[in-house]
Amino acid sequence: MPYPHIFRPLDLGFTTLKNRIVMGSMHTGLEEEKNGYEKLAAFYRERAKNGVALIITGGVAPSWQGWTSPFSATMSNSREAAKHRVVTKAVHEESGKICMQILHAGRYNYTPFGAFAPSAIKSPIHRFKPWALSRRGILSTINDFVRCAKLAQEAGYDGVEIMGSEGYLINEFICRHTNHRTDEWGGSFENRIRFPLEIIRRTREACGNTFIIIFRQSLLDLVDDGSNWEEVVLLAKAVEAAGANIINSGIGWHEARVPTIATNVPRGAFTWVTQKLKREVNIPLIATNRINMPETAEQILAEGQADLISMARPFLADAALVKKAMENRSDEINTCIGCNQACLDHTFSRKTATCIVNPFACRETEMTIIPATDTKKVAVAGAGPAGLSCAITLAQRGHEVHLFEVGNEIGGQFNIAKEIPGKEEFRETLRYYTKQLELQRVQLHLNTALTTEIADKFDEIVVATGVVARKAGIPGETHPAVLSYTDVVLHKKPVGKSVAIIGAGGIGFDVAAFLSSEPNADIPEFMKEWGVDMSYRHPGAKTKPQPTPAEREIFMLQRSEGKMGARLGKTTGWIHRSSLKMKKVKMISGVSYRHIDDEGLHIMVNGKPHTLQVDTIVVCAGQVSRNQLFEEIQKMGKKAHLIGGAAEAGELDAKRAIAEGTQLGLTV
Ligand code: NAP
Ligand code: SF4
Repeated sequence: MPYPHIFRPLDLGFTTLKNRIVMGSMHTGLEEEKNGYEKLAAFYRERAKNGVALIITGGVAPSWQGWTSPFSATMSNSREAAKHRVVTKAVHEESGKICMQILHAGRYNYTPFGAFAPSAIKSPIHRFKPWALSRRGILSTINDFVRCAKLAQEAGYDGVEIMGSEGYLINEFICRHTNHRTDEWGGSFENRIRFPLEIIRRTREACGNTFIIIFRQSLLDLVDDGSNWEEVVLLAKAVEAAGANIINSGIGWHEARVPTIATNVPRGAFTWVTQKLKREVNIPLIATNRINMPETAEQILAEGQADLISMARPFLADAALVKKAMENRSDEINTCIGCNQACLDHTFSRKTATCIVNPFACRETEMTIIPATDTKKVAVAGAGPAGLSCAITLAQRGHEVHLFEVGNEIGGQFNIAKEIPGKEEFRETLRYYTKQLELQRVQLHLNTALTTEIADKFDEIVVATGVVARKAGIPGETHPAVLSYTDVVLHKKPVGKSVAIIGAGGIGFDVAAFLSSEPNADIPEFMKEWGVDMSYRHPGAKTKPQPTPAEREIFMLQRSEGKMGARLGKTTGWIHRSSLKMKKVKMISGVSYRHIDDEGLHIMVNGKPHTLQVDTIVVCAGQVSRNQLFEEIQKMGKKAHLIGGAAEAGELDAKRAIAEGTQLGLTV
């Protein structure tokens, strides 16, 4: 067995988990779609069939007061519970186990109906103050949790996960940060933990001894006045005594200003805190956050840092992750790169989640690989994300596929991303594609442009030739101090001690990170930079961030007014901005560019002229399509398709490129 610690069953006394990988809770948005539960059933079936030991569903509110957003999934009566039967049945048919997460949003309730919390204290990421629950309200909320667990049992779930972390209602009771009550539900630690303990105790009483109860406990609040380590330990012991079977690690409140799951977080960055708790309790502990490959999971288990590993987003990226690990095929895993672009960013925009590297995720009932009835000889020009995903999908359907790339490696724009400190995971996607090209027998022609002569020998042509960097059009742009982002990131041209970056889109931010940060920050460095106290001397393990300032003076410029990086990901934009601010990168909006000369970059800001006396100017002003080949092929009368950046350069990202490539691959 390639991963002996992963594939060791876990005996819970009354039931056994077949391996140590848990699919963690993740809201997909499918529940809220038409035929949503059937789609959810197909989504979970696919993961259970491929060997996941235990699935935890996305959060389900125990009442409307617990909603995260208007009309989010709720289980408060038998009618709502009955809809879940199709989900539990699908997982059980594949010999999997499934627990439903019960989540009461507390003051993170983003509905116009008002939020409820232990005290009326507004969260910094919410517009309105919540209502403080009355004593009666607290008792009825406990009843709601217990009723919800009982209904989940009726719906066929093997257990529940009670969400006690991430700053949701239960966590708000536990911490002084949000609990300023003076009655028996606030004040002393004993009073503050009464709420979760009552829920666990009464759930156990109601659901019996053969029902799994997982408590997701916040092991690191990462907010002021969060729990201290003694409180974390006391609570975990009390949770065990109250009847929970498993404790899952919760890391950081949503309002915490520390990245906890984004790609710049080193793999397994937070398992040290799970390990710290392991010596204190007897029930199994789950390690979470940025564990995306079996190698990392195996190491955590082998070192005894945890008993189980939770992966959530990695199962969007690859439904067959466990099966591939079991068969020693981890080089075939489509790795979650921690970008959040198609999962959490979708969820926070009220769109159904999917995955940037796997557009099939959450579309199991709509997107399937059906072998082509009329197999063709297809040429794909361009081995960037669009061309790669298209070539592989076409080949999976039985077409003979030739992939032409003018460069000496596959990857296109991903070759830029993979060089950026904190974006090293993009290399995994390239490893995945390299392996898939081999497995699907795509014939790869590197250093070869697809010409019209070559194209003539094919039935159909896909043009995915991508983009070229746009010039900014500033007088003096040919000055030797001016470089393009590809010069800097790909060709590693020398850059001076002071730099101006023209353009603050995704690439401008990436270039600023490239010029200001060291690659591969290790876990202690990351914690120091973001202010996480690994010695846990401060409540919430929060301390003052100690970033290393950039060795260069860097200016980032944009013509638009307003905050920089406004179009960056909803859940990650703040990380990029904070990170560069910590590096003392100077961000200037509302700039107009005048000219470039030996003195530097001449600009106007607020009607006043300024000269940035910089050594290097890097142009990151977006891209234009490279689509000449398409026109030439069309003139030949050949059937051609144009996808990715070559079709439309504006607002191109890997999500659109891969989705377009895959969709086309499914239809030719
Ligand atoms: P972009 O997002 O379109 O940004 C281009 C930037 O250049 C803007 O700041 C724009 O702002 C400026 N600009 C445009 N024309 C200009 C001109 N003629 N002169 C001077 N400035 C000009 O393009 P990108 O940064 O190259 O990114 C390309 C795509 O990749 C985007 O869709 C992006 O989301 C994606 N990407 C995302 C990430 C990520 O972390 N999520 C990372 C890399 C790339 P002003 O017009 O205000 O000056
Ligand atoms: Fe992972 Fe990005 Fe896919 Fe989300 S969209 S599952 S973060 S690769």
